[in-house]
Amino acid sequence: MVAARTDVLVIGAGVVGLTTAVVLAEQGLGVRVRALQAPQHTTSAAAGAIWGPHLADHESVPRWSNQSLEVFRGLTGHVEAGVRMLDGLEVARTPMPAPGWMAMLDHFRVCPPAELPEGFATGWRYTAPVIDMPVYLGYLLQRLVDAGGKLESGVITSLDELRTQAAIAVNCTGVGARQLVPDPEVTPTRGQLVVVDNPGLETFFAEDTGESPEMTYILPHGDRLILGSSAERGRSDLEPAPETAAAILRRCTELAPSIAGARIRAHRVGIRPVRSRVRLEHQRLDGCHVVHNYGHGGAGVTLSWGCAADVLSIVEQL
Ligand SMILES: Cc1cc2nc3c(=O)[nH]c(=O)nc-3n(C[C@H](O)[C@H](O)[C@H](O)COP(=O)(O)OP(=O)(O)OC[C@H]3O[C@@H](n4cnc5c(N)ncnc54)[C@H](O)[C@@H]3O)c2cc1C
Repeated sequence: MVAARTDVLVIGAGVVGLTTAVVLAEQGLGVRVRALQAPQHTTSAAAGAIWGPHLADHESVPRWSNQSLEVFRGLTGHVEAGVRMLDGLEVARTPMPAPGWMAMLDHFRVCPPAELPEGFATGWRYTAPVIDMPVYLGYLLQRLVDAGGKLESGVITSLDELRTQAAIAVNCTGVGARQLVPDPEVTPTRGQLVVVDNPGLETFFAEDTGESPEMTYILPHGDRLILGSSAERGRSDLEPAPETAAAILRRCTELAPSIAGARIRAHRVGIRPVRSRVRLEHQRLDGCHVVHNYGHGGAGVTLSWGCAADVLSIVEQL
């Protein structure tokens, strides 16, 4: 049997690694993904997830977000992808202008005060992609396999090790880049969610809470609601904290009283790879090339397709 050719080794099987691998493999490159955690056990699987560039910085964030938005719009016709366009309301307790990225979204409008829940000063309505991450990661993996790519379980302990593994590697290790590179600029930022039965909500709700570690949002996924969240800088423990779950339930129930008493189905915890700037660049090592693609903070899903397209451009030049 002839072994499959490997042109590129992608490290990491979260949304960033799998999307990058799909884009490379669909261009005809031989792609292998190596990951410590399988897709369903990554931070990506824990995400809510809604399109929106939060907790991520880079001058290309608007372009990457827009490229991903176009792809997600196209995926809504594929039920197996788990992507839907959902209407909803985002609010803030203090007057503020709408973030620039909202203008990219369909049906965006500023709400008159009469439409806002009590206690809020500003609000916007828009339609955004909402992504059922466990389903979506399964869809990406299937697309990778269909394009001839492979996923294998394993760890890369240092960048030096890559010399013997592949001529080109793409580093999509999320918070793992802190140890692997090593890059102390990656700050683990813990996020916790509660999954409950949906009492019948069909639109999303989000509060702009700025830098607060307490985030509040409600994302309907059919018969389930994902309730969020927290942003605990410097924490990377994965055990759900009962007091955090109780606080999320309290905040969400205040906004949507029909949630009170809903059966809890699950708790989710993920560690966002927050960095002062997303790192997407080529590094030449003695004996191989590495393209770094990590540090997407609270927006890895939102930036995934745009970043993958940039990785492809770099790999094509190599
Ligand atoms: C509660 C919560 C809600 C969120 N909501 C949203 C949202 O609504 N919208 C949005 O866009 N984003 C959201 N995010 C952020 C998003 O989840 C992250 O930005 C994204 O998951 C990062 O993806 P990643 O592929 O870089 O990392 P990960 O998903 O963490 O995957 C990293 C992969 O690398 C592997 N790895 C690491 N180190 C090594 C190594 N040395 N060797 C081999 N493999 C290694 C891991 O095992 C894993 O497979 C949310 C995050 C959280 C926690």
